Amino acid sequence: MRVVFLGAPGVGKGTQADRIAGQFKIAKISTGDLLREAVRNQTELGREAKRYMDQGQLVPDAVVIGLVRDKLAEPGSMNGFVLDGFPRTVPQAEALGKVLQETQRPLHRVVKFEVPRQDVIRRLSGRRSCPKCQTTFHVEFAPSKKGDACDRCGETLIQRSDDTPEAIETRLQVFEEQTAPLIRYYASKRLLSEVNASGSVDAVFEALFSVLAPYSAI
Ligand code: AMP
Repeated sequence: MRVVFLGAPGVGKGTQADRIAGQFKIAKISTGDLLREAVRNQTELGREAKRYMDQGQLVPDAVVIGLVRDKLAEPGSMNGFVLDGFPRTVPQAEALGKVLQETQRPLHRVVKFEVPRQDVIRRLSGRRSCPKCQTTFHVEFAPSKKGDACDRCGETLIQRSDDTPEAIETRLQVFEEQTAPLIRYYASKRLLSEVNASGSVDAVFEALFSVLAPYSAI
């Protein structure tokens, strides 16, 4: 199964991508996760990317396309993959199409996550994550049992540096301007499905499962 998850920041793509990857035994490729790892490891790429990420701007296409191309060449993605947060621009989508065509692995589906804007802001501003084991929480919807500490490893939880009100505003604007055109791009290729992502994690997973299950045997 080869799928793309498309949607504004904060719609729950990452959470669902983890579950779908586990369920169907495919790779989860998240450019946000890969970039944050590079920032943590203070690589040159990480240092460059951080400047854009903290402001809520997109990292240049060439950088993320390179990251994804490398991941798609790894054996872990041969059984299938879910792309979370990539592509985010039309040039990224075109580059992805080219890489997948070269390796004869066309996409099966692009799923668009639908959530009202006010819910997105609430989800993003309450999001917390563990800097050690990367588990994510939400102060309202999925709180840690240990309050400000991770209930898996005990580390103090942090707020992502791009989950501030200013960066959230920019990220939503960037989504409308640069990523929303991909909806039409993939609809014209007859690859697009929509999922109502405003319900509980379990309800959204069920909706996704029924969209994706037909592709699991491929
Ligand atoms: P995410 O975790 O998907 O919300 O991504 C966090 C940040 O990483 C974004 O706000 C961008 O700065 C950067 N980023 C992630 N994926 C991409 C992408 N496909 N293209 C450009 N920048 C990206």
